Amino acid sequence: TIVLGIETSCDETGVGIVRMPDSGVPELLANEIASSVEEHARFGGVVPEVASRAHLQAMVPAVHRALTTAGLTGRDVDAVAVTAGPGLAGALLVGVAAAKAYAAAWDVPLYGVNHLAAHVAVDTVQHGPLPPALALLVSGGHSSILAVPDLAGPVTPLGSTIDDAAGEAFDKVARLLGLPFPGGPWIDKAAREGDRNAIRFPRGLTGPRDAKHDFSFSGLKTAVARYVESLDGDVPVADVAASFQEAVTDVLTLKAVRAAQEFGMDTVLLGGGVAANSRLREMAEERCTAAGLTLRVPRPGLCTDNGAMVAALGAHLVHTGAQPSDLGIPANSSMPVTDVLV
Ligand code: ATP
Ligand code: MG
Ligand code: FE
Repeated sequence: TIVLGIETSCDETGVGIVRMPDSGVPELLANEIASSVEEHARFGGVVPEVASRAHLQAMVPAVHRALTTAGLTGRDVDAVAVTAGPGLAGALLVGVAAAKAYAAAWDVPLYGVNHLAAHVAVDTVQHGPLPPALALLVSGGHSSILAVPDLAGPVTPLGSTIDDAAGEAFDKVARLLGLPFPGGPWIDKAAREGDRNAIRFPRGLTGPRDAKHDFSFSGLKTAVARYVESLDGDVPVADVAASFQEAVTDVLTLKAVRAAQEFGMDTVLLGGGVAANSRLREMAEERCTAAGLTLRVPRPGLCTDNGAMVAALGAHLVHTGAQPSDLGIPANSSMPVTDVLV
């Protein structure tokens, strides 16, 4: 079975193609990405209208490139999957409309899937079928701990951020430090030259009476802002970046490992753009190993938004015999994480 997946929830136009054999071990054939990130950089954040227009321009060429890379034509595609939500309404709409058009033209089933479930599913194209796992999803818009007994759903949300998402904190702190947007990769890079123990920043919601599986990053962001303001002159960018990154990864890995132990899961899975962070990957590996847990984390290029993740989830749904979506499905900007498929 060949599944083509389309992702347009934010500023990446992603088209991925996955082959799913009867064995259930998916194979990634193509993963084309066009990003409008440069157009948003001067605004310091994603501008929804600009993203929608960029998706419109990039969509058809991206599908053609993906088919060419995979050595296929539209006639070879057996199913189309698309991110139906959550995300920016106008951006989602472009992908959903395109997916419906391709599904109708090729006369194949359509699967409207959840973006967050797709961030989890993408790991299967690198590491094979996923056992029941505790997923830590950290991106620009989300920070959640989910119990995922099976990719086809339903997932159980155990906790999430009560204010900023982890990626949002990276982007805001980068801005404070004068680093470009999106800031996550820049903090990661700057931190390599810094001392992660230089400044002790607060670890939100880690007290004995705090919500065990929830996160809070706005206090940390404020602490970094205060620290920077308190300096008379030169900001030690590398030390601040490393110390901030250490505080975020400390909390994320502590809570993920603790939740896995509490809910009896042997596998921890990282997903979402922040899972591309080198220190998070390193600390997660250390702490999972120490706790006797197996860590699964896709390569950085599969952590940030892409089409392969949507194709991977679509392929799993086809493989497990899920009911395809209606051609009339809407884009749902606030699609709940518990809904894997519409
Ligand atoms: P979602 O709807 O899933 O929240 P998103 O638009 O946030 O999607 P993603 O590509 O999943 O898109 O995540 C982007 C976020 O990941 C940004 O906040 C970015 O700064 C952050 N990020 C990317 N690479 C790194 C990194 N190496 N270290 C830390 N953060 C990173
Ligand atoms: Mg993005
Ligand atoms: Fe995402």
